Amino acid sequence: MAEARSRQIIIAGAGIAGLTAALAFAVRGYPVRVFERAQRLDEVGAGLQLSPNATRILDRLGVLPGLRHAAVRPDAVVMRDASSLAELGRVQLGAAAEWRWKAPYLTAHRADLQGALLAHVGREPGIQLTTGATVRDATPHPLGVTVSVEIAGRIEQTAGMLLVVADGVWSDLRRLVGDRGKSRFAGQVAWRRTIRAESPAGRSLAQLGIGGVVTAFLAPGFHLITYPVRGGAALNLVAFTRGTSMSETWSGTMDTKVLKTAMRRTAPALSKLADDDGEWMVWPLHTMPLGGSWTAPGGIALIGDAAHAMTPYAAQGAAMAIEDAETLAGHVLARPDSVADALATWERERRRRIERVARRGRLNRMAWHAAGPVAATRNLFLRMRGPEKLATGLDWLYGWKPPALKL
Ligand SMILES: Cc1cc2nc3c(=O)[nH]c(=O)nc-3n(C[C@H](O)[C@H](O)[C@H](O)COP(=O)(O)OP(=O)(O)OC[C@H]3O[C@@H](n4cnc5c(N)ncnc54)[C@H](O)[C@@H]3O)c2cc1C
Repeated sequence: MAEARSRQIIIAGAGIAGLTAALAFAVRGYPVRVFERAQRLDEVGAGLQLSPNATRILDRLGVLPGLRHAAVRPDAVVMRDASSLAELGRVQLGAAAEWRWKAPYLTAHRADLQGALLAHVGREPGIQLTTGATVRDATPHPLGVTVSVEIAGRIEQTAGMLLVVADGVWSDLRRLVGDRGKSRFAGQVAWRRTIRAESPAGRSLAQLGIGGVVTAFLAPGFHLITYPVRGGAALNLVAFTRGTSMSETWSGTMDTKVLKTAMRRTAPALSKLADDDGEWMVWPLHTMPLGGSWTAPGGIALIGDAAHAMTPYAAQGAAMAIEDAETLAGHVLARPDSVADALATWERERRRRIERVARRGRLNRMAWHAAGPVAATRNLFLRMRGPEKLATGLDWLYGWKPPALKL
């Protein structure tokens, strides 16, 4: 008797991309195995902005109720001059965003999102998550794909119809879809810090009126983003400066001299934040060039940062990982006769969207870090457009919905 084709979906990596993919496939009736290299899924990272294109999917997968208590629904994104603190432009969020884009714009601590995804994964009987398990290799064959996983020093093999590679920006497994090389350092670093809203620094920032909003303080070659997380009990700060590459890790420390120099000309209320030595964690910004394939027709798909890590200037990396996961599961379900066709259609569709979002990130960086006449033109543009037109300009991004695919 011929061997049956397995319907199992195997996922490498339990970050935002991998966990969302696990849920997206499980709700469509697929058995899912997730392998995560880390022994424990620690509370890594800092804040995340979750735009409506991402929260719509999290809601559809049932994750949003578990996140609501810890997330904040900010009232607006406000752009300000980092030196004079003058408001340059604003996009209404809160109820206006929910009405306009039919899903909320939220800010959350990354650990709270990961926790909400994990709790949901734990309740889903079709998903089996194994930690301390490193996916080492995969071999496609006519019946699907056989995946080698190292667990406690031993190699185990498991078979599935599809391997979803969600092993992040430092991906070792992207080689499985061709020689795409490694991610590239973007020449910039992110300085991240979470402070209690009730701390002296938190209270002093609150006097600037940044409490319930996302604020982008803009200066030549630099910007600082602040927003509330942890139900408003904490403030997430992230500053972007030039920097040097570090080891392959999400975070580390660096001499704050670079940050102090970049913030020298900002208002005293901001520049004094750079003086608290030792509290800033540095994240080198790495991107993955968009050329090359994200899929192998035999049954392998790269999603999230493993496929297309981008700079965070449009705050869309996690959102794109969430969109990738949902659309991949939808396409595979829609083409039960051919995984290869499903992957080809999915990649074509995702590539157009990812390229546009990456372009938006590059534009934001240029505009936000501008100096002299370019900065003056930007300020004039923001004033002339006003909040309504600025929101309209984001409809393609935040109003996006997964194509009408079967659940
Ligand atoms: C400063 C900064 C600010 C950001 N702000 C935002 C924002 O506001 N909004 C937003 O949408 N995005 C934002 N992002 C982007 C976002 O954080 C990333 O795009 C997102 O976390 C990527 O998720 P991922 O699951 O693809 O990768 P990761 O979170 O890196 O997950 C990869 C997982 O795979 C595991 N793994 C690795 N190798 C293997 C293996 N061989 N086998 C098994 N497991 C393996 C790892 O241990 C890890 O758990 C920001 C990024 C930065 C740097």
